[in-house]
Amino acid sequence: MSILVTGGAGYIGSHTVKELVNQGKDVIVLDNLQKGHKKAIDYVNFIKGDISDENLVSKVIKEYHIDRVIHFAADSLVGESMIDPSKYYNNNVIKTIKLLDTMIQNHVKKIVFSSTAATYGEPKEVPIKEDFETNPTNVYGKTKLMIESILKDYDMAYGLKYISLRYFNAAGAYESGEIGEDHNPETHLIPIIMQVLLGKRDKIYIYGDDYDTVDGTCIRDYIHVTDLSNAHILALKALENGSDSSIYNLGCGEGYSVKEVMHTVEKVTGLKVNREMAQRRAGDPAKLIASSQKIKKELGWNPKYSLYDIIKTAWKWHKNHPNGY
Ligand code: UDP
Repeated sequence: MSILVTGGAGYIGSHTVKELVNQGKDVIVLDNLQKGHKKAIDYVNFIKGDISDENLVSKVIKEYHIDRVIHFAADSLVGESMIDPSKYYNNNVIKTIKLLDTMIQNHVKKIVFSSTAATYGEPKEVPIKEDFETNPTNVYGKTKLMIESILKDYDMAYGLKYISLRYFNAAGAYESGEIGEDHNPETHLIPIIMQVLLGKRDKIYIYGDDYDTVDGTCIRDYIHVTDLSNAHILALKALENGSDSSIYNLGCGEGYSVKEVMHTVEKVTGLKVNREMAQRRAGDPAKLIASSQKIKKELGWNPKYSLYDIIKTAWKWHKNHPNGY
């Protein structure tokens, strides 16, 4: 029996595929390569295609004896989701419904779903627990929350068991430096800082220093992509062992401000980050820090990488792949 990984050629997907293969699992990647990189997974079975292609997904399920799915495939740019919500409701929600229906038709009833801290919106307090109010402030977060609600209904009606993982700020790269983060356009803090250090950009703009935080810049909970991958594997194992459906946060439980991240980058690389203050970016909450007690307690997950390690691995990847894959 094999595992279908949708969006397996993307950033978090490709790192998870690597861990699964390291553990001797049979993996099939389905990715339309709109954002993903074939080079990141050129050592595993790969099907180019869309999760909404019912014939293709049915065929793959039958041919490769798929009995469980890790579902990463999605659009994930917050800013774009506000400008083009149709793209996000179609690609994230409607296509996921098609995938789930095809799974059910083929009796595949276990799925690990890639969700986000954006489902919470602006929290009333931190650390954020899974039972906090969900009030997403952007369309991207809304699409993920809608899918979680659909998963719940599909569980009740069809017995689909799911584990939804709400990621905080995924960052870093595979320790060997073979694979890493390569988005186009790049919008995330750490890769943008790396692009500045590599001379690909003049400077980085700090989006606001008038937040109610230690130094006025936003605070985030950065989590290494390999720690995230390991959580997916634990979640899959739990489902294999008959676990009930559940939702877990994934963060380190420690917050760092934008300025603290820059300071750590300067410590790791010995280089100065050219920066400029700018206006706040719309929709940025001041402080997002996870409580990951639930997954630690229930699935035995434990993040191993510090912010320092995150930046060290990211720097190794970006230095050796200044133009990405
Ligand atoms: N940020 C910034 N300049 C940039 C990109 C990001 O100041 O060019 C800040 C952003 O406002 C946020 C933090 O860095 O507070 C992390 O942003 P990112 O886009 O990496 O992740 P998000 O928290 O939006 O998911």
